[in-house]
Amino acid sequence: MRNNIIAVYPGSFCPPTIGHTDVVVRAAAHYDKLIWAIGVNSAKKCFLTVSERLDMLRRIVEELRQEGLNNIEVDSFEGSAIRYAERIEASFILRGLRNTSDLQFELDMATANRGISKKIETVCMFSKPHYATLSSSMVTEIAILGEKIDQYVHPYVARQINKKLGVYRQPSKPPQDDQSEARSSVSINELKQRRESKEPS
Ligand code: ADP
Repeated sequence: MRNNIIAVYPGSFCPPTIGHTDVVVRAAAHYDKLIWAIGVNSAKKCFLTVSERLDMLRRIVEELRQEGLNNIEVDSFEGSAIRYAERIEASFILRGLRNTSDLQFELDMATANRGISKKIETVCMFSKPHYATLSSSMVTEIAILGEKIDQYVHPYVARQINKKLGVYRQPSKPPQDDQSEARSSVSINELKQRRESKEPS
């Protein structure tokens, strides 16, 4: 029997939704340690910086800790999830499944990862039906359109997103982009253009 079984839940979490948190909570019971980790992926643009997302995950995990779930940690990594899992000596990569498109994607990814390391197994957890249509991209689109996102994300996440988008609504005073994280975040101008193109003229 092995002790200290570690699973890593990698993803963009841009933003983290209550569907992600549900996977984390249900999975945490089955491992000694669950690492909820943001993969810094330059190909996948996100309007939240890595620091902002880490802050959101930490806030959620702190709340879970107060509810008695104390085996969840937060981290971020560059490069592939499988190499990260090796580095932290995880035995499992955890992923969530909402539908058959997720299934095909996760199957392909798990197969590719198996080709890299046979020591780490990918395990997938089905989302609860209630969360099966919930995605970070949908939440982002809704928030950009100025609609409420409270039913999809933790209240702190909703506040932070609204705060950030509030800043974007003031074109005369654009905030400075964090250069160190510019690779993984959508530029302010890009976001403003998207908002403007969606606003009825
Ligand atoms: P990605 O890793 O492709 O950037 P996300 O960060 O959105 O995707 O999600 C990370 C993992 O969580 C993926 O396995 C994804 O399928 C899963 N997931 C996303 N949304 C939900 C949800 N609402 N319920 C359950 N699992 C989800």
